[in-house]
Amino acid sequence: HISITNVSKFFGRHKALDNVSLEIPPGTVTVILGPSGSGKSTLLRTINHLERVDEGFIQIDGDYIGYRRKGDKLYELKEREILRQRVNVGYVFQNFNLFPHLTVLENLIEAPVAHRKLSRKAAIERAWELLDVVGLRDKADAWSRHLSGGQQQRIAIARALALRPRVMLFDEPTSALDPELVGEVLDVIKKLARSGTTLVVVTHEIGFAREVADQVVFMVDGKIVEQGSSDAVLNRPAHARTRQFLSKVL
Ligand code: ATP
Ligand code: MG
Repeated sequence: HISITNVSKFFGRHKALDNVSLEIPPGTVTVILGPSGSGKSTLLRTINHLERVDEGFIQIDGDYIGYRRKGDKLYELKEREILRQRVNVGYVFQNFNLFPHLTVLENLIEAPVAHRKLSRKAAIERAWELLDVVGLRDKADAWSRHLSGGQQQRIAIARALALRPRVMLFDEPTSALDPELVGEVLDVIKKLARSGTTLVVVTHEIGFAREVADQVVFMVDGKIVEQGSSDAVLNRPAHARTRQFLSKVL
């Protein structure tokens, strides 16, 4: 369970997140929508402590992200502890970020061996399972730089899953792809959704949100202005700002 409580984040004097609170129950899919600059990426990055929050706090299954509580005070974790915590949160970016000089299989076994202290043999077994999940068994020995964008993104998802995270965050996972490659990546994310993985997805793919989101959140200027079921937010938005946004992306 992810619990975001009264989180604010400043960049200089600019308030990128403004008192954001959000509950994300285990096994659910949350889709975050909003115009450019509304704070969507910043919110995802705080869940991983890639950005430090200035006010409020975030917990995953009761653990404070980036902090340890002593009495009524929070103390920031040491870098090593932050990295250890980050292993529990899978992160998939717009631009894949595979290791181009490694094969697909090597991309999938590197992190579990380094961060989960898995044996190479166990990591390889897990990698084959993940290649089945993303439908790319036949690419195990290919150089990752030789894959199509859609295939690279599917491997990036598999690589994030290799660490068995408690939650998967996706930041516009299909927006760098040619239109004909979007579907294969969304299909993999839908499969994860059906398997009960907790997902938080920033995307402009409204059809995807309709189909799989348990909760849709609409942000403007660092604030959550609308939140509810996909039906409520997408079909009966309460705010003019949401209606205006939806009329542009639909
Ligand atoms: P987009 O849809 O374009 O990806 P977004 O909703 O993800 O936008 P953010 O990237 O979270 O928006 O940015 C929110 C605001 O914070 C923007 O005004 C942005 O310029 C600012 N911002 C984000 N990161 C930084 C940073 N590292 N330093 C300074 N300002 C930043
Ligand atoms: Mg962004």
